[in-house]
Amino acid sequence: MSLALTVDGGRWRAHLRAVTEATPGLVPVAKGNGYGFTLGRLARKAQWLDDQGLSVDTLAVGTYEELPEVATRYAGNLMVLTPWRSFQPPPDPAVSKRVIHTVSRPDDLAGLLEAQPGARYVLELETSMRRHGMTAPQLWDVARRLGGGRLEGVALHLPLATGSGHQVEAERLLNDVVAAELPTTTIWVSHLTPAELSTLRSSYADLDLRPRIGTELWLGDREALRATATVLDVHELRRGDSFGYRGRTSPRAGHLLVVSGGTAHGIGLESPMGDSGLRSRAAVVARGGLDAAGLTRSPFWVGGKQRLFAEPPHMQASMLWLPGDALVPEVGDRVDARVRYTATSFDRVEVV
Ligand SMILES: *Cc1c(COP(=O)(O)O)cnc(C)c1O
Repeated sequence: MSLALTVDGGRWRAHLRAVTEATPGLVPVAKGNGYGFTLGRLARKAQWLDDQGLSVDTLAVGTYEELPEVATRYAGNLMVLTPWRSFQPPPDPAVSKRVIHTVSRPDDLAGLLEAQPGARYVLELETSMRRHGMTAPQLWDVARRLGGGRLEGVALHLPLATGSGHQVEAERLLNDVVAAELPTTTIWVSHLTPAELSTLRSSYADLDLRPRIGTELWLGDREALRATATVLDVHELRRGDSFGYRGRTSPRAGHLLVVSGGTAHGIGLESPMGDSGLRSRAAVVARGGLDAAGLTRSPFWVGGKQRLFAEPPHMQASMLWLPGDALVPEVGDRVDARVRYTATSFDRVEVV
């Protein structure tokens, strides 16, 4: 009776192993909703990879608040991707020695070391992302004033690779890091492609590149994953029958399908009908479909077709419109849900 993520365990684990083996220095990223799997499950999998002898010594989380979710399930270093700020309550002393902070502004280093003497940290250098990070001159300045704490490297968060990639930018940034003459050779990178990583590794052989990867690791083999909702109810509708919170009336005969999964799971209204030009809208109206009433596509697929929401999703369930000629599933049947894993809270993760 739930929105479920079904994982082909053997296939998923083989993928995790393969990516880890192919990516020396990999730092798995477990953040947010745990990419659909939950943070705890990802932390256990990172530990499992390390136990397999693949040397996963560090796990990255998005926020300080996520640390308790992973700290008891994974034994290695815990890097926090959100930069340290003075208003951030300090992590639990039981884990603070394992935490690697991100320092993205020159003045924050002193603040961090005051709040947690001996803290481990990386210095984040700004990239074309411009989310967080200090400029190269700021990095060089900080490099001259280091003292206290444990510098664990420099962090670079690049944007997602576009057509031309970021080889040129990455080289410029690495040159800036080298010019800082820091007492570290470790560079924590995000969103470099495998090809860029290997090119950079050969041109900067003295540097130790640590790729921080989430999506390609956890969600890289989509064939291992399937999201499904369960049919909770089916109602036959005659033309003119009313239904839903808003008392809509059915313009045609068909079925109303109630499936698990609603706004509480992150199920939202998809972008409205793709072809919404006036002429096509007029054609739809002429055909007299429910879609003429401005219904939007749902992420649920029934009988091989993407179905329309009969009305906006409810908190725990969604109502779908099934036209009269469609095959009607039975209560208890599963239907495919094509959802964004990073934005969906599943009721259940089933490893089969
Ligand atoms: C989320 C995040 C990553 C991982 O991103 P994916 O696209 O999921 O691989 C890496 N680095 C930083 C700084 C991030 O915030």
